[in-house]
Amino acid sequence: MLGLMQDWPLLCHRVIDHAAIQHGGREVVSRSVEGPLHRTTYREVRRRAMQVAQRLGRDGIKAGDRVATLAWNTWRHLEAWYGITGLGAVYHTINPRLFPDQIAYIANHAEDRLMFVDLTFVPLVEKLQERLPTIERYVVLTDAAHMPQTSLRNAVAYEEWIAEVDGDFAWVTLDENAAAGMCYTSGTTGNPKGVVYSHRSNVLHSMMAVAPDAFDLSVRDAIMPVVPFFHANGWSIAFSAPMTGCKLVLPGAKLDGASVYELLESEGVTMTAGVPTVWLALLAHMEANGLKLSTLRRALIGGSACPRAMIQKFEQTYNVHVAHAWGMTEMSPIGSICGIKPDYGTPDFEGVLDIKMKQGSAPFTVEMKIADDAGKDVPWDGKTFGRLMVRGVCVAREYFRGEGGDILDPDGFFDTGDVATIDPYGNMQITDRAKDVIKSGGEWISTIELENLAVGHPKVAEAAVIGVRHPKWDERPLLVIVPKKDEKIEKDEIIAFMQGKIAKWWMPDDVVFVDEIPHTATGKIQKTALRERFKDYTFPTQAAAE
Ligand code: ADP
Repeated sequence: MLGLMQDWPLLCHRVIDHAAIQHGGREVVSRSVEGPLHRTTYREVRRRAMQVAQRLGRDGIKAGDRVATLAWNTWRHLEAWYGITGLGAVYHTINPRLFPDQIAYIANHAEDRLMFVDLTFVPLVEKLQERLPTIERYVVLTDAAHMPQTSLRNAVAYEEWIAEVDGDFAWVTLDENAAAGMCYTSGTTGNPKGVVYSHRSNVLHSMMAVAPDAFDLSVRDAIMPVVPFFHANGWSIAFSAPMTGCKLVLPGAKLDGASVYELLESEGVTMTAGVPTVWLALLAHMEANGLKLSTLRRALIGGSACPRAMIQKFEQTYNVHVAHAWGMTEMSPIGSICGIKPDYGTPDFEGVLDIKMKQGSAPFTVEMKIADDAGKDVPWDGKTFGRLMVRGVCVAREYFRGEGGDILDPDGFFDTGDVATIDPYGNMQITDRAKDVIKSGGEWISTIELENLAVGHPKVAEAAVIGVRHPKWDERPLLVIVPKKDEKIEKDEIIAFMQGKIAKWWMPDDVVFVDEIPHTATGKIQKTALRERFKDYTFPTQAAAE
């Protein structure tokens, strides 16, 4: 017997339709790449997205075609996403921080036919375009007045381009399983791999994301995604914000502490989302200038582990709740979000911090397990490490063009490449990437835990731990530190600070000081580059061991 309820496909453009009907006047405020703040509404975004769809059609773009965007978070980028998906085409966000070789690789692999490009990236693409044969046209996200002289193929200013059509268009009807978007994983090893989101997965993911124990987003909020749309499906905020009708504040190209602070305050932002490096810059700016936050109530922090000191500062000094989250491009991207479940009772502040250091529990639609190297489940005791495996309706089942082969185990679980513990209440904590964990004398040392501890020292700006070869123990931890500006710090100070807070055998064998730690295109510490830099390093303790 079938249920007798109505059915319609879960399509991305239904989200912007809903926003335009129910919350049509709600603002979308952007820092434009040209400079000034720009204000529009969901109603206008939808109207102009229809023009985008119609105009793309006139350029010969059809359902299933990939359309690239190389752009910051602005209203035009948002309109482009809805215009592309409303035509049945597929948005393909490209991370401009990737190496030019990688950008060429993924644009060719995806066979992008048209590219929306921000003014910032025009020079980059001009140099690359000979290597991008599939792209027939470049639409520069600006108006005629700001359009640069450019050699880009069939280049046109976005405003002029959409003005050529009247917007009399009906969204295309599609199967909800049709592709809506693509995002390539950065691929620290091997070539980047394409993750292909469907309309259905985007809509379901956003419904899951807005819930109270996730983003906790409502029509009364103003959200600012500092995380760029090109990072892991923009954490789905381009869909989850209009779904609730909350105000949307887009920071454009300026992600420095001062610019982010200015928008948080001037636009009354209540909820924000981004990677820890962005918050380091914001906190440093606020500290240096004695500033406070007057409206922000919640910060979603993920992409790499959020240090304890950062959670503490947000919560204690600025009265902002931190929601520590974990996810992956392959998961649309939310995998878990940390909250204080009632099971924990009423912990004191230190206890709250202990819990918030965890990346949290899986929301509905995500299932997770931890397994040993033989694939056997390990217990949820908060102590036993295992490989973190996930499955769910917003998790990739394969990469574009079958790259990487079969990526699921026989039960349909995807191996995340992360190592984690899960506590008895279901809160997961990442201890490492499988390839970064340090194996010392057969035992595992969590580099994330050591980094978190070191960064809690008041003179430390950033810390990274890598395993370095050791004749007796195979690998031992080397702690790499960037001191805070104008601070001098000694190795002994750091070691003394860490003493008693970790098992003795976890203590780094040495500490080195550097001016800068390299980051990946998505703001993660680039451990491969650090390992390369210190590949010939020998520990002072090593002579004794040999
Ligand atoms: P990319 O691989 O392209 O840099 P992703 O965002 O897909 O971008 O990376 C996913 C990986 O990021 C996860 O597998 C995990 O290793 C790491 N990660 C994400 N969030 C966290 C977090 N809160 N704590 C620790 N690691 C995280």
